[in-house]
Amino acid sequence: MAAPSLISKLRKIATSLPEIEVERCNFCGTILSPDHRHLVDLSQMKFICTCEMCMILNVGKGKYKPLPQRHLHLGDFIMPDELWSDFLIPVNMAFFVKSAVRNGTIAYYPAPTGATESKLKMEAWNSLTEFNPILKSLTYDLEALLVNRLGDAGQYYIVPIDKCYKLIGMIRMAWKGIFGGKEVNDIINRFFNELKEKSAPCPI
Ligand SMILES: [Zn+2]
Ligand SMILES: [Zn+2]
Repeated sequence: MAAPSLISKLRKIATSLPEIEVERCNFCGTILSPDHRHLVDLSQMKFICTCEMCMILNVGKGKYKPLPQRHLHLGDFIMPDELWSDFLIPVNMAFFVKSAVRNGTIAYYPAPTGATESKLKMEAWNSLTEFNPILKSLTYDLEALLVNRLGDAGQYYIVPIDKCYKLIGMIRMAWKGIFGGKEVNDIINRFFNELKEKSAPCPI
């Protein structure tokens, strides 16, 4: 998206009226609906908002990959506590992505500085896949297993990676103090409530 001009920056400072954020297609500038598609440039981990037409025109032009659209709620997901401990993730939320380049699965978790990564022990990931064969269907680099174990019952989803980065970005912006604060909790709860509504049940 183009950088806002100086005048629009000054206008923002001068007025106290809240602005409604609209997202535009990064190629043609059309105003997009909230559930528009994204392309990703994996070399820079950059997400590009796009309309359907520009998506068709730009897919296959080298660096841009279209993000998959499925959102699955894995209601019967099996994650034994010992296995979760084996992943050595210091918080109760993370997303896991199979990386083609790095030949393994990487976990990312939210921190005040943004997404922090930790490379997983292959055996632990393989055990998780044995418990949950649906994980074999994860698209390399583009889909994630999203885990939220903050509540009493864990929640598990397969989502496109932009969803995960969006969540982690919102957490980073709202983070206060050592533990994050109430606003962070509210953001997480709202995000997962919306995700549950949007997601289909696991087909297997
Ligand atoms: Zn467009
Ligand atoms: Zn967008």
